[in-house]
Amino acid sequence: MIDFELTPEQQEEIKAAQEFAEEQFRPVSRYYDEHEHESPLELIDKMWEKRGESMFRLGLDPAAGLRTEELCWGDAGLYLCIPGPALGGAAIFLSGTKEQIGQFLGKFNEGKPKWGAMAMTEPHAGSDTAAISTTAVRDGDEWVLNGEKIFVTMGKRALEDSDGFVVVWATVDKSAGRAGMKSFVVPAGTPGMRVEKLEKKLGIRASDTVTIVFSDCRIPFDNILGSPEVKKVDKAGTKGFKGAMATFDATRPIVAAQAIGIGRAALDFVKETLQKEGIKIRYGVPRQKLTALERDVMEMEANYKAAKLLTLRALWMMSQLQPNSLESSMAKTKAGLAVTRITQKAVEIMGPLGYSRKYLLEKWMRDAKINDIFEGTGQINMLVTARRVLNYSRDQLK
Ligand SMILES: Cc1cc2nc3c(=O)[nH]c(=O)nc-3n(C[C@H](O)[C@H](O)[C@H](O)COP(=O)(O)OP(=O)(O)OC[C@H]3O[C@@H](n4cnc5c(N)ncnc54)[C@H](O)[C@@H]3O)c2cc1C
Repeated sequence: MIDFELTPEQQEEIKAAQEFAEEQFRPVSRYYDEHEHESPLELIDKMWEKRGESMFRLGLDPAAGLRTEELCWGDAGLYLCIPGPALGGAAIFLSGTKEQIGQFLGKFNEGKPKWGAMAMTEPHAGSDTAAISTTAVRDGDEWVLNGEKIFVTMGKRALEDSDGFVVVWATVDKSAGRAGMKSFVVPAGTPGMRVEKLEKKLGIRASDTVTIVFSDCRIPFDNILGSPEVKKVDKAGTKGFKGAMATFDATRPIVAAQAIGIGRAALDFVKETLQKEGIKIRYGVPRQKLTALERDVMEMEANYKAAKLLTLRALWMMSQLQPNSLESSMAKTKAGLAVTRITQKAVEIMGPLGYSRKYLLEKWMRDAKINDIFEGTGQINMLVTARRVLNYSRDQLK
């Protein structure tokens, strides 16, 4: 049985996240949207001070998804600035040894704010992750990395901080295809790794997105996550390419939760504005008697709820250590599409109020789209879903 019931403690954590989002994110949301590449330093300090509080605790369960929803209701770009190991941390946690987890994540709550990042995408390898061409060549007790990674979320922050790191996907044997793909932890400050370019973006502008270049970048041999061996079938099931997929199974529902937060922000705005205008949404009325506006709002709500339930299910399965590839991709597909539609419809319904920069609605519409792109586009997640449902292999359904 699926159980989404929250403990009183989890309910408190979610409430704390809601309050933080409302009191700390919303007031500076427009500022950091308009001042892209300016770090929200004061806010980062506040988040760091509260790092011990569970609202910022990383987690892969329904309560973590609900905390994420609340924080992204506040601001999805600022949410990505929360100090922590982020996607890179998930990769280490899922593919690393106990020692590596201790070494790279152990001190993450000490000292000063620090960030992690994950670099998979390359100029010629986005959706087709197996096409990556960054190389890792063994040289004695070191690996030498060469290549270029693009669109790395929070890559600048992760590399500016002496304790930060980036998890880099590279091939140790291009001819072996997916079996040759491995991930490596590259600590900030490693010679041969540099930030090359800072993107200017449509949305989530408070968070940085960068190109990172590796030229003869040397890291210790032990910084590889999983086995260095190149073999087609990996018994452990969570190493190499499978490690990348396992990371996505864990993180896609969290991205879905981010989307849901933005969607609810837009939905709340529409409903509150209509209420102020004295316009009521009549529930329980036969469909043919509803106004077009009522139908629109109900459809937005239905999309929001469907995405939320799929997301909670994927997270709940994760927390029960059940395989959740299908559910994770379903949640991500639905949430990415739902938030895109909800925010666009909200702008349409609100007309000038939706288009004006006086309100945050137009920003949410811009922030929403990324959820249909990163961590696998909507199309790719639909493909993964179809393969799982129809029981087709990767080669049978491309
Ligand atoms: C703001 C931002 C932050 C990001 N952060 C990170 C990060 O931290 N780390 C990281 O590694 N990457 C990151 N990315 C990269 C992101 O994951 C990729 O952009 C995404 O995977 C798509 O890859 P692509 O851009 O190469 O598009 P392409 O793969 O070229 O796809 C282009 C279009 O074709 C469609 N398409 C491709 N293949 C198929 C297919 N087989 N069937 C149907 N449709 C298909 C896609 O859905 C898409 O619509 C980020 C991107 C952005 C914009």
